[in-house]
Amino acid sequence: LLSNRDISANQLQTYRSNNEPTLMTSSSGMPIGDKICSLTAGLHGPIVLHDACLLDEIGQFNEEKIPERCSYAKGSGAFGTFQCTTDLGSSITRAHFLDTRDKQTRVAVRFSRFTSELGSADTVRDIRGMSIKFYTDCGNFDLICNHLPVFFIRDPILYPSLVHAQKRNPVTNLFDYDAYWDFLTLRPETMHCLILLYSHRGLPNGYRYMNGYSVNTYKFLSSEDRVSYVRFHVKSNQGISSIDSTKALVLAGMDSDYATRDLYNTICANKELPSWTLCIQQMNEEEMKISSFDPFDTTKVWPKLDYPLIPLGTITLNRLPANHFSEIEQLAYSPANLVPGIEVSPDKMLQARIFAYSDAQRYRLGKNYAQLPVNRPLNPITNNYRNGHMCLNNQNGAPNYFPNSFHGATTSSHFKESTYPVEGNVARYECSNGIDDFHQAQRFYREVLSADERLMLARNLAKSLALTQQFICKRALENFSHIDQDLTKDIEHFLSLQRPTTMEDRSIQTDFEGKI
Ligand code: NDP
Repeated sequence: LLSNRDISANQLQTYRSNNEPTLMTSSSGMPIGDKICSLTAGLHGPIVLHDACLLDEIGQFNEEKIPERCSYAKGSGAFGTFQCTTDLGSSITRAHFLDTRDKQTRVAVRFSRFTSELGSADTVRDIRGMSIKFYTDCGNFDLICNHLPVFFIRDPILYPSLVHAQKRNPVTNLFDYDAYWDFLTLRPETMHCLILLYSHRGLPNGYRYMNGYSVNTYKFLSSEDRVSYVRFHVKSNQGISSIDSTKALVLAGMDSDYATRDLYNTICANKELPSWTLCIQQMNEEEMKISSFDPFDTTKVWPKLDYPLIPLGTITLNRLPANHFSEIEQLAYSPANLVPGIEVSPDKMLQARIFAYSDAQRYRLGKNYAQLPVNRPLNPITNNYRNGHMCLNNQNGAPNYFPNSFHGATTSSHFKESTYPVEGNVARYECSNGIDDFHQAQRFYREVLSADERLMLARNLAKSLALTQQFICKRALENFSHIDQDLTKDIEHFLSLQRPTTMEDRSIQTDFEGKI
């Protein structure tokens, strides 16, 4: 191998060293005699329609692409293990993979960028995704995290607009600063997420150096039927490392796959395997009732002093995908993939995601996506589902209706969901009424950030705000003033230094992939 090169650059050489040449076949297995020349009538003559070899080649090529994800499109990932390190086990949840210290569970982890397209740069200020599939002996548990502890919105009906405002303008096909800041400033609940994003944590130094947060609240059910509510934290054992916006801009041009390359090279080198500690914050039902904030609000964190982190185990990544498309592009996560002991809570964003993700996977990969090797659970699938495109497991002769008298799959009340009471009128409630959208953002600004970090936050926000119209910028400053007057003053100061108007000015100032 060529040792003076990046490890990832040696992939083909590694393949060559480990494999003998093989005979090429068509997709039906027929050995191929010539894959250089099309079949023509005479030297310059037309191509004949019965050149199955050519038709197979072109037809296969045309259909290589599947729809990219509407959000979190660009991603990379790896496989590894989760090792339980707690004895709390069934006293907090019935989930099997957490019931015994030292128990190991295979995992698949996909990292991504929220507003990315497949070809986007990795080093753009944006939320990163970190999705973890636990292949437990009782089904797959998908824990879908972001690298910031809160999200922009708390009502899922706003999600498509949030994404549209950050994607390309349908007329210009360009990222639109007005749309981005217009939407965000019209919804002040976005402020907390925004200032975390524009702090240095908004530009992680690759995927190894960031945490994952479930953002959503889940319900735990113990073996004694005790209910509690949890937020998951996936803390990087490498520590947190971020890059500044100038370096991010340079990398976006010079190595737009910076984070992808870093993950590949680190695991391939097999020396310091990346790992994370899975933790929870836990709230019992009594604490939930008297909480000063809504524990199901995705724009809020749970203060660590009141709800300290409880470590559950360690996730270590040790295997790269054998093939990116097969194992990462086709890797399909859904918050609907839960295991007994972990349930949905009254968190509205989580409730909508239960539908949204599975629906998106059916569109992207087809109805039988869960049968693909990387998505298949360890335990056998036995139910009434049959047929559809690319069906690999049609459950042979088992009855396809329920109930039945012929030893078809049956249910057990042991696995029934827990119950909870609801009250109130069915209506569309404005989710921001009476809610303080600024207190936690204020605590972050005043108590967590250092003076230098506060200044950097203001500078980053000003660089982005400079690209939007005055009236939107004014609204943003008004919103930020509820966090701290000093933040507004600092943003105004940086805005006054230069307000770019031309594309040339913008390209100097932008650190948002031509976006912000
Ligand atoms: P704490 O002081 O106990 O927690 C603050 C947390 O902020 C730290 O634990 C760390 O989270 C994170 N943090 C530390 N330095 C930075 C930084 N420079 N940039 C971004 N994040 C940093 O107080 P609270 O729990 O009461 O939270 C106060 C504020 O901190 C919150 O309003 C929220 O904005 C922010 N925060 C809170 C988190 C939580 O889950 N409670 C998580 C992350 C941020 P970590 O250890 O996860 O890296």
